[in-house]
Amino acid sequence: MASLSLVNVCKTFKNGQIAVKDFNLDIKDEEFLILVGPSGCGKSTTLRMIAGLEEISSGELWIDGALMNLTVPQKRDLAMVFQSYALYPHLTVYENIAFSLRVRNIPQIEIEERVKKAADILCIRHLLDRKPFALSGGQKQRVAIGSVIVRKPKAYLMDEPLSNLDAKLRTQMRVELSKIHKELGATIIYVTHDQVEAMTLGTKIVVMNAGVIQQAAPPEVLYNN
Ligand code: ADP
Ligand code: ADP
Repeated sequence: MASLSLVNVCKTFKNGQIAVKDFNLDIKDEEFLILVGPSGCGKSTTLRMIAGLEEISSGELWIDGALMNLTVPQKRDLAMVFQSYALYPHLTVYENIAFSLRVRNIPQIEIEERVKKAADILCIRHLLDRKPFALSGGQKQRVAIGSVIVRKPKAYLMDEPLSNLDAKLRTQMRVELSKIHKELGATIIYVTHDQVEAMTLGTKIVVMNAGVIQQAAPPEVLYNN
């Protein structure tokens, strides 16, 4: 897994909108970092810059001690998990999860191992032969997350992944996310509006406002006063 470092990261959009300003943060290996703050404060932009989906205007991004090149797009080996997900409707759950490994010519036996391990963590082992139409919303999302896990990314970037789910599912998915964090030793950067998610999942919480970091502290420190 990975450690990341952002140094004086700024983002100004073409229309002049300053979305993120002088963002400084070290993200340790196996950190479950939560980004919170009011709508429009720059959370998604920060996540998208880390993912390489949005250009960084100025500053430095380091991943595992390597300085990322900001002008030449570069494979960062990070996985972005969205709230909406796309599964291949004609493929089984097993084949959906295995898909990204198949196109990389990973040996069959390793694909099977990785798919089964991901399915176990997400409690969908019994669904491997099903097609997406026969899955509930929560099950589909688990499959989508499974297809990310098997790639063994350096870090997971998640933008409100549970916001479309009902309260019961959200509670269940929090457990799965916690397992991904602990059992895979994953580094996770997670945007949410949900204080319960922030408190139960986060090892560190960063509060943003108007493009800058207002506070950064472990949840027990932040929510104790
Ligand atoms: P959050 O995720 O915290 O809701 P965003 O990162 O989406 O905030 O947005 C931060 C600011 O940047 C907002 O003022 C938003 O309107 C602006 N913004 C986002 N994307 C663009 C864009 N493509 N062009 C111009 N401004 C943008
Ligand atoms: P096991 O007995 O270890 O549970 P199998 O012997 O059933 O696994 O697996 C045989 C082959 O079928 C493997 O190469 C595996 O990649 C593939 N496979 C296993 N389960 C599924 C599934 N649900 N859908 C598609 N292919 C599968």
